[in-house]
Amino acid sequence: MYLHRSKALLLFFVIFLSWIWPAGHASALDLASAVAAVPNPRAESRTWVADPANAIRLGRDEINGLIQAHETQSGVEIAVVVLPTIGEFIPKEFATALFNHWAVGKKGQDNGVLVLHVLDQRRIEIETGYGLEGNLPDVKCHWIVEDIAIPFFKQGSFSDGHYEIARALITGIGNPDAERQTLTGHSARAPGTRVDSPPEPYELPYSHASLGDFHSDSPLSALSIISLGSGLFMLLLWPVLSHRHRLVHPDPLDQLDHFRKRAWLVKAGAAAIVVALLAWEWQSLASQWSVLFVFPGGFLVRRYRARRLARLRDQPRLDPNTGEAMRRLNEADDDAYLLAGQVCEENLGAKDYDVWVSPSGFYRVEQYDGAHGFEACEKCSFHTLRKIGTRIIDPPTTNAQGLAEDSFTCAHCGYAKVVKRSLPSLASSSSDGSSSGGESFGGGSSGGGGAGGSY
Ligand SMILES: [Zn+2]
Repeated sequence: MYLHRSKALLLFFVIFLSWIWPAGHASALDLASAVAAVPNPRAESRTWVADPANAIRLGRDEINGLIQAHETQSGVEIAVVVLPTIGEFIPKEFATALFNHWAVGKKGQDNGVLVLHVLDQRRIEIETGYGLEGNLPDVKCHWIVEDIAIPFFKQGSFSDGHYEIARALITGIGNPDAERQTLTGHSARAPGTRVDSPPEPYELPYSHASLGDFHSDSPLSALSIISLGSGLFMLLLWPVLSHRHRLVHPDPLDQLDHFRKRAWLVKAGAAAIVVALLAWEWQSLASQWSVLFVFPGGFLVRRYRARRLARLRDQPRLDPNTGEAMRRLNEADDDAYLLAGQVCEENLGAKDYDVWVSPSGFYRVEQYDGAHGFEACEKCSFHTLRKIGTRIIDPPTTNAQGLAEDSFTCAHCGYAKVVKRSLPSLASSSSDGSSSGGESFGGGSSGGGGAGGSY
C-alpha cells in the first residue's frame, strides 16, 4: 500500500522538477544574472568607474577623481559603466537592473546615478535614484545626453564625453534651477579633440548558452546531478527499507521504531535536493526563488510520514507468546496499567500511551510523542517539566546583551528550577550616512528615472 505512496512521491518530484526547469531561462532571471556579472568597481577597486575593456582608460582616473570628490562632499554616488556589449539586452532595462543590483546611492536617500554606455549598441543611459529626481529630473538627463554624450561619442571621445557627463551631472545636482546652457555649455575640450583607442577584446562574462535552454544544450552541473540523484535515492530508500524491515520484523511497534529511526534519510534527501537546486541556480546564475517550491514537497513527505505512523500505531498487535490478537484499551481503562508519572504525562498531553492487552493477561505499554514544550524532569524523569514563567532581569540594549530567568516546574513531582539565559542585544540602527568606506555602493534604488540616447 505505502509503496504506492513512494511512487506518488517520485511522480511529484518529476513533475516538480520539470515544472521549475524552464524557469531558468525566463528573461527577467537572465537579466538579473547578466547584471550580476558586471564587475562592481566599489567591490573591486573602491572606484566609481566600471570599464572592463579599458574603453575610457584615457580619462578614467580623472572621472573617478571628480566623482570621488563630489561623493565625499555630498554623499551622492555616481557610477559610470562602459561595456563593449551587453548582448541582446535592452540598455535601459539593463541600467535599471544594474542600478538596483549594486544599490547605487545611500540607503534611505537613494541619491545615486548610473551612467551606462554600451559601445556596440552605440547607446547611453543615465539612470537616477528616487532621491535625485528633484534636482536631476529626466529633462536634465535628456539635455546631458543630447548636448554632451551624443556629440562626444560620435567623435569617439569617450573619455572626455564621460568626464563632461559626470561634470554636468554634478552641476545639475548642485543647482536644481540650472538652465540647459549652464549644465551643458562649458566643456573643457571640444568633441573629437581627444579620441580613445579602441577597447580591448571583450567577451561577455556570462554566456547566453549557460543562461539558456536546459532542455537542449546546457547540461546540469555535475554537483546538481549528483545531489539530485542522491536526494531522490534517499527519499525512495526510506519506504523501501521500511518495507524490507516489515518482512523480517512483522511487529508494528518494531516497524514504527525503524521507520522513525530512518527519518534522517528524508531530511538528508531533502537537503540534497535543495543543494541540487541551488547548484543548478548557481550555474544558471538565476535567482533562487525556485527553492521555495521545496516546501510543498516537504509538506507531502510530512503527510506521508504522519499517515504511515498512524497506520502502524493502529495496526492490531499479536501476543508474542501465544499469537493471539491483543486489544487496545481506551484512555480511561489504560490508566490502570500506567505509572502515575505516565498518567500525568498523558493528562498534560506531553506523551500519549497505548496499552495493548492479550487474553492471556500479557500487556504492553507503547509511548508516543505528544505536544512540544515539555522536558524530562531531572528528578522523576517523566516529561512533565514545563516553563511557567520568564522574568527579565536586565533588559537588552543596543550595545549590551540582557539577562532573563526562566522558571520550570514539574507537574508530577513538584520539582522546580530556574535557568538564566542571555537575551540578544537589540539591532542597532545602521549608520549609512556619509561613510563610503564599505565594499559596495550605499544601498540606493532606482525606479527607472533618467534619460537615454543613441549616437
Ligand atoms: Zn518531576
